[in-house]
Amino acid sequence: MPTGTIMKALSGYYYVKGDDSGETLQCRARGIFKKRGQSPLVGDRVIFEETENGEGTVDEILPRDSALIRPPVANVDLAVLVFSVVRPELNIQLLDKFLVHIEHERLDALLVFTKLDRIPDDEDGERIRRDVEAARELYESIGYDVLLTSAHQGEGIEELRQRLAGHIAVFAGQSGVGKSSLVNALVPGLTLETAEISDKLGRGKHTTRHVELVSVNGGGIVADTPGFSQLDFAELGIDEIGSCFREFRRLADGCKFRGCSHTHEPNCAVQDAFGRGEVSASRYENYKSFMTEWKEIKRRY
Ligand code: GDP
Ligand code: ZN
Repeated sequence: MPTGTIMKALSGYYYVKGDDSGETLQCRARGIFKKRGQSPLVGDRVIFEETENGEGTVDEILPRDSALIRPPVANVDLAVLVFSVVRPELNIQLLDKFLVHIEHERLDALLVFTKLDRIPDDEDGERIRRDVEAARELYESIGYDVLLTSAHQGEGIEELRQRLAGHIAVFAGQSGVGKSSLVNALVPGLTLETAEISDKLGRGKHTTRHVELVSVNGGGIVADTPGFSQLDFAELGIDEIGSCFREFRRLADGCKFRGCSHTHEPNCAVQDAFGRGEVSASRYENYKSFMTEWKEIKRRY
């Protein structure tokens, strides 16, 4: 029987895109799922069957690798973290904060710096270019892929498309950085609301919509709703923050104390590496400020 991916769930129907056919079929879930207390989720890989009325049934949910809560999508394995370089400018602290949450979900992250066409041709623009280049070098050295793009001029869009192949991805980043514009640029004919459109209609974007997956030419799948919108540390343990910094995680085996917080302990591999200039000052400072923020949140509750 054919296999496919649930692209959308609406009013009791599941829209399954067949792996072989490439076609989307409107399906009902078999009653057996309810008995098992199982419910199919957008992103689930399923075995389905076409029935006589031109619809189909979802017969089996294949084992899930993961289930994200916001947006509710199964099997997401990549977060595309979008930051604009202008309006708003890169915010490295917020970037590190998003990365903590993405690492905590055990997703790979792809960093996309966008609106490159908007960098002005003056001194300010030169400073912005230097900052963007420094950020690119830093995050590549930690092990993240970084892409420079412009949704309006098409720069970097093909690289982004290639990088998405074989993944189910969710876009993340502040509002207004250009996430919807990137997804629209990737999928011809798609018209996710961008800021202009929602301004025209006089409403905020992403109001009470259901999440839907969109196929990208070249084999990727992306969610049409951004993820990681609530970024507080309440859901994390304090000892988890350090392990969400990739380079700290790699170094932590060398710390003398198990559960080292990398702040005051002697013989700490992270502090030593920071002292030698091998851990960047911005990463280390942001880590410490997240630890402080975490303690403040816990004090308040
Ligand atoms: P989202 O909130 O992250 O989905 O951001 P949008 O895609 O709605 O974009 C916010 C604003 O930035 C809109 O006015 C877009 O037209 C604009 N924008 C997005 N991408 C680019 C780009 O690559 N270049 C320029 N110049 N503007 C962009
Ligand atoms: Zn340490």
